[in-house]
Amino acid sequence: MRTAATSSRAKYMQYLKSERSKEKTETKQLKRKALKEEIDFLKQKKMFLQTDMHQTNEKANDLANEAEKSKNMNLFIQSHELRKTISEKEIKINTLDDLINWHRPRIECLIDAGVDLLAFETIPSVKEGEALMRLLKDFPNVKAWLSFSCQSMHQTSHKEDIATSALTCMKMALPGQLIAIGVNCCPPEFAKSLLKDISTISDGFPLIVYPNSGEKWDNREGWSGDKVKTNSSYIESWIQSGAKIIGGCCRTTPNDIFDIHKYFNPEK
Ligand SMILES: [Zn+2]
Repeated sequence: MRTAATSSRAKYMQYLKSERSKEKTETKQLKRKALKEEIDFLKQKKMFLQTDMHQTNEKANDLANEAEKSKNMNLFIQSHELRKTISEKEIKINTLDDLINWHRPRIECLIDAGVDLLAFETIPSVKEGEALMRLLKDFPNVKAWLSFSCQSMHQTSHKEDIATSALTCMKMALPGQLIAIGVNCCPPEFAKSLLKDISTISDGFPLIVYPNSGEKWDNREGWSGDKVKTNSSYIESWIQSGAKIIGGCCRTTPNDIFDIHKYFNPEK
């Protein structure tokens, strides 16, 4: 009797297992299909933008030629305005699908290797943040933080308003997936203002901050200049501005991190 019960239970468990794996395969197939549709849609959008840009370019050239012949300042200004819209469209073309395709294999590789938290850091533009939030949705069990690199007190490295950029990305994440949002690899003296800007829209959501040492970066020369103040001397102001995770980025040292640790554990 016991053997029969055990065996029918085993059969039932086997049945459940196979149903679950069938379900998993079906979900994977559906996801793949949705992803393919999205990529096709983005490709069409890109083609449309490219045609539109080509036509706008021809119009701008015609206007510039006419302006040259007639010496008409208004025509010259109109052609200049048209060229400006072309460069804006070019930025749009460098779009989500390129960024998503670039980040996807890296994220997949990290998840396969078993990481339990992804750090999307040193993100220079809202567009890249959006691409990452879109990708994160494809991995609903994975958590991440998102951190922008900034070169001024109120803007990302691509000169977009930091609060608007943060809000755009926060709205895109699935509930619970994003554990913090903030800034990194900026001079520490910018961080308080950036955090304050984000906190105006983040409604108490945890903020993260880990600036660099404050030295200057040049693409040809590398790092130069001096640290003015250590990151730990800013901690109080960062906490008051909503920071819940604090650290250091480029050119900060183990000693800098130890100083931050000491701030929270003064007796040790
Ligand atoms: Zn850095």
